[in-house]
Amino acid sequence: MATVCEVDLARIVEYLTGQLGEDERTSLEAHIGAGCAQCAERIIALGGMVSEPEPEPAQQMLVQPLMDTQMPQPAGVRGAAVLSRRRVYEAESKICIDIQQNETEPGISTIEGQILIKGGDLDEAAGASVSLSDAGNPVAKGQVDEIGDFSIVGVPAGIYDVTITIGSMEAMIKGIEV
Ligand SMILES: [Zn+2]
Repeated sequence: MATVCEVDLARIVEYLTGQLGEDERTSLEAHIGAGCAQCAERIIALGGMVSEPEPEPAQQMLVQPLMDTQMPQPAGVRGAAVLSRRRVYEAESKICIDIQQNETEPGISTIEGQILIKGGDLDEAAGASVSLSDAGNPVAKGQVDEIGDFSIVGVPAGIYDVTITIGSMEAMIKGIEV
């Protein structure tokens, strides 16, 4: 088909942004479906812009420590996980971060805890991620479940930055000693 396409760019933009009426859309779709290369190219070129807006930069939250409890190691207990440290943080009076550290074998710990959104439902933090990094290099990552709990197993002793990402909010706790 060597017919010249008469559909202008503005119409393609209207189509992609859902501004065309039913009839206009149907006839344009028929035209594209008939194999108009120019319209197809424009849709591909514009499609990326229209359907994938730039992600907003994550909102960085300040994190304050509320509590840090170092548990005494019970003598002579072997084989059981030992709760060795519990820390609680708060991010801008909005998010409460409870981190418990259990040494499962010498030099290896499980990091578990809970993320709570203040004044929100338990499941509001569901799907958030908790990642450990060492000097910017990702080390381990855990996913927050539907009641706000997370668990990261097999973390070697070290100093880590913990990043909690909830939707577009990001809270970082620097220099946690494991
Ligand atoms: Zn066309």
